[in-house]
Amino acid sequence: MEYHNVLTTCPYCGTGCALHLQVLDHQLVGVLPAKNHPISQGGLCIKGWNAHAFVNHKDRLQTPLVRKGGKLVTATWDEALALIAEKLSALKAESGPDSIGVFASAKCTNEENYLIQKFARAVIGTNNVDHCARL
Ligand code: SF4
Repeated sequence: MEYHNVLTTCPYCGTGCALHLQVLDHQLVGVLPAKNHPISQGGLCIKGWNAHAFVNHKDRLQTPLVRKGGKLVTATWDEALALIAEKLSALKAESGPDSIGVFASAKCTNEENYLIQKFARAVIGTNNVDHCARL
């Protein structure tokens, strides 16, 4: 058996607790808190303790889904992104940029959230940007 830990940051909220991912034979099998981290100081909430659970979960989406004929079907990223661009462009042309809103996520990094608001303002042309942490 081959076992090692990978130090990383919990993906669930902006607190930024540190944790060790437990990897056994190239499979993610669990999580341990990082004792000396200045934020989490050896503690994790229940979400952090289960931060590994979604990675190999059978219900995890592996590809984008697009609606065709009223049903969600798998698509490539190129197909999904082309459809999104087409729909957003049509909506903007028909109803203006403020008819579109962009919703960011606490599960994204600061850099990703920066890019989301930049996309909203510079590409779409709207200030309609919100974030789940504000709810
Ligand atoms: S362990 Fe809990 S409090 Fe810490 S970052 Fe993860 S979700 Fe947030």
